[in-house]
Amino acid sequence: MIQSAYIHIPFCHHICHYCDFNKVFFKQQPVDEYIEMLINEMHHATAQRKQNMLKTIFIGGGTPTALTAKQLDRLLEGITKELLPTKELIEFAVEANPGELTSEKLHVLKNAGVNRLSIGVQSFNDELLNKIGRVHRRDDVFRTIKQAEEVGFENMSIDLMYGLPGQTVEDFKASLEIGFSLNVKHFSAYSLIIEPKTVFYNLMQKGRLSLPPQELEAQMYEIAMEEMENHGFAQYEISNYAIPGFESFHNLTYWNNVDYYGFGAGAHGYVDGVRTSNIGPVKKYIDSIKEKGNAYNSEHVVSLNEKMEEEMFLGLRKTAGVNKEAFYNKFSIELDRQFGEKIKKQVELGLVKDDGVSIKLTHKGKLLGNEVFQEFLLT
Ligand code: SF4
Repeated sequence: MIQSAYIHIPFCHHICHYCDFNKVFFKQQPVDEYIEMLINEMHHATAQRKQNMLKTIFIGGGTPTALTAKQLDRLLEGITKELLPTKELIEFAVEANPGELTSEKLHVLKNAGVNRLSIGVQSFNDELLNKIGRVHRRDDVFRTIKQAEEVGFENMSIDLMYGLPGQTVEDFKASLEIGFSLNVKHFSAYSLIIEPKTVFYNLMQKGRLSLPPQELEAQMYEIAMEEMENHGFAQYEISNYAIPGFESFHNLTYWNNVDYYGFGAGAHGYVDGVRTSNIGPVKKYIDSIKEKGNAYNSEHVVSLNEKMEEEMFLGLRKTAGVNKEAFYNKFSIELDRQFGEKIKKQVELGLVKDDGVSIKLTHKGKLLGNEVFQEFLLT
C-alpha cells in the first residue's frame, strides 16, 4: 500500500551556495507546462490503482513557493483530482522559503487542505544568510510565520543549519533561541555538507572557504540536542525534533522504509519494492512524460538483503531505532540472526544499544551515525 507522495518543484529564484538539489533558475523555465506534466505523471501512476490511501503528501524542491499563486492553485487542483480525496490523509506539507509566501499564496495552500509548512530558515543571522547565498533575511521569517498564523496554519517547522562558514557556537545558540521564541512545533537542524558542483565546493577547492573545525560542529550538534530537549522538543530522528504529535509523518515514511510515490523532475520513488529515480533536467522530464506518462531514469528492484540493510540504516536514524518484532514481522527473519555480529560489534564500540526490544543509536552513535550505518551494509 502506498502511503505517501513526494512532489518536486525544481525552480528557485536564487541559487544558494551550498545547494546540490535538483533545481534551476525560475526565469525562462516552462513552469506552467511542468505543472501540467506533473499532474499527468500523477494521473498515470495512480490510474491503475483502485483507491488512493495516501497518508502524507509533501511538496518540496527547489522552492514550491517560487510558483505564483495561480500556478500553485493549478498544481493543488491537479493534486486534489489525482491523489485526493483520501480519508487517510493526515499530513499535507509544503516547503516554503521565507519572504516568498504572500498572503494570497497562503490562502491558496490553506484552501487546498495544506496543513503543514516547512520553512527554510537556516539561520537568524543576516550576515551568515548572506554568506551562504540565501536571499531572505530574519525579518522575512518573522513576517512569514506571522502571516501563516493569521491564515490559520498551526503546524510549522523550521530548518536550521550549523557548521556554516564563520559560524560560532554562540551564533548557533542565538539562532536556536530565536527559533524557540516563535510559534513553531518542529525543527530540523542539519550540518552543512559541502557537495560537488556547488559554489562552496569550488571555493573549498581554491582554499577560500573557512569552515568551523569538526569539534565545533559536533559541539553545535550536542547543543541542538540539549536545547531542544530543554524546550520540550523531542528528538525523534538524528536531525529532527518535535513537540510530541508534530513529527513529520511524511519523513517518517522514508525512515520507516515504506513505499512512496516520487513525482517530478529528479524525484525518487519507492513503489511496490522498486526504487525509481526520475530524469532530472526539466525539459527532458517534460518530453518523457508527454511520450510515455512516466520519466523513469532508473528502476531498481530492491533485493531482500538490500531491504533489510535499508531497514537498518534508515531505522537507526530514528530515536525509536529498529524494533526487533517489527523487523521479524516484515522479513520473517530474526534481527539478531541477520545482524547479530554487527550489532554486537557496535554495542562494544558504544555506538549502539540493544535493550532486547529495539536497537538504537547511543549518544556517541548519533555523533558518528554514518559510521554505524555503513556497518550494516551487507555487500
Ligand atoms: S537551498 Fe533551496 S532555495 Fe536554495 S537553491 Fe537549493 S533548493 Fe533553491
